[in-house]
Amino acid sequence: MKNISDLYSKFLESSGICTDTRKLKKNSIYFALKGENFDGNEYADQALERGALLAVVDDKNQKDDSKVIVEDVLLTLQELANFHRKQIDIPILAITGSNGKTTTKKLVLEVLSKEFKVKATEGNLNNHIGVPLTLLSFTAELDFGIVEMGANHQKEIESLCNIAEPNYGYITNFGKAHLEGFGGIEGVIKGKSELYDYLIENDGLIFFNRDDEIQVEKAIQHKNYSIGEKSLSDCQVVLMETQPFVTVEYSNLIIETKLVGSYNFKNVSASIGIGRYFGVDKENIKQAIENFVPEEMRSQIIEKNGKHILLDAYNANPTSMKAVLESFKQMKGDHKTVILGDMFEIGEDSVKEHFHILDTCQYLGFENILVCGERFHKVSSEFENVIGFKTTSDLQKYIEEDISRISSPILVKGSRGMKLESIMDVL
Ligand code: ATP
Ligand code: MG
Repeated sequence: MKNISDLYSKFLESSGICTDTRKLKKNSIYFALKGENFDGNEYADQALERGALLAVVDDKNQKDDSKVIVEDVLLTLQELANFHRKQIDIPILAITGSNGKTTTKKLVLEVLSKEFKVKATEGNLNNHIGVPLTLLSFTAELDFGIVEMGANHQKEIESLCNIAEPNYGYITNFGKAHLEGFGGIEGVIKGKSELYDYLIENDGLIFFNRDDEIQVEKAIQHKNYSIGEKSLSDCQVVLMETQPFVTVEYSNLIIETKLVGSYNFKNVSASIGIGRYFGVDKENIKQAIENFVPEEMRSQIIEKNGKHILLDAYNANPTSMKAVLESFKQMKGDHKTVILGDMFEIGEDSVKEHFHILDTCQYLGFENILVCGERFHKVSSEFENVIGFKTTSDLQKYIEEDISRISSPILVKGSRGMKLESIMDVL
């Protein structure tokens, strides 16, 4: 096989792409990707035995008629995805930002699907591997493709844009996430803005949040459509209520969501604006949003043994932590319990940021605060009403010993690595 177009012919014959032999579909093309702890090349034979049409490897010693040897498997996957993207030539909307990407993506998908044929990133497949896989799952019959783009360092969004070639883009927010890799909040702004930079250079359209000063500065330089509470927004959406769920008003229409937390207002507004820009009927937008239920562990309200739990254990960083604490403060109830787990990937300011979160808890007047993880544990002793544990399981044991220590409503939030959802077992 000589080049990408030959590989593309094979792709068109295949049943799709496979990167994990345990989930191999017959007749798919296996890409031998490498990870920190594995080398996909070692599974190429297994993939072929299990019925793969072809294996793409970069181990030069693996000569075999059913294998294609390339310089770099990941790069080849990305090139194939870009080739496919050019072939199908459908409008693509990219969504990035520090928080709320998946939620916004899902909302926009629901809204646009009311009147169009749309496909979006599945789950959280938003990185240098996920984006190509997402693109390769799109077909020419679609009216739109929605691509979630995640990043934890500079130039990552730029490279994802070069693969996906989006025509439209939206940045959810610039927040304190992945500070380590980006080099502080300025770095986050620069890194995430690579999406808008791409759209500016390639004559795309920028969707942006009018209420976010930083976004305004960049977006107004170019073809854009703005969304926000301000009346000068192209699409004006007003926040009416946050308790127990976010309710908004758009063009004399009241939309009652099933989403918790005022931060979800932005995500909802974005989906209304993007829907309206593409001409989706207002009533259809209302219906799509009102039927939307958040995914597992992303700000879910759960009732268990008479307790009300706000489970937000999917991930955490200083911005989303603060946003959730503020909205938990608004929830009804006099004796709340805050259960927090460490925030990862914050870098040198880690101690400060964890301290700051506990300080915010004081300021908001929470009395019963339990935290776990090395980072929170370290700073917890500086606060009288905070009990710190080194691990999630230590905290779990503490709760198990005497459940009466935990008053309802309860907030549970931490980084993915803390697996804080396991606390649910003992609540
Ligand atoms: P990831 O980087 O893991 O892909 P994401 O950007 O896709 O995350 P979501 O999965 O949609 O984000 O939401 C994760 C959590 O982020 C939510 O449960 C909530 O705590 C917080 N969050 C969601 N939207 C916002 C927002 N607009 N501003 C601040 N925090 C938010
Ligand atoms: Mg996501």
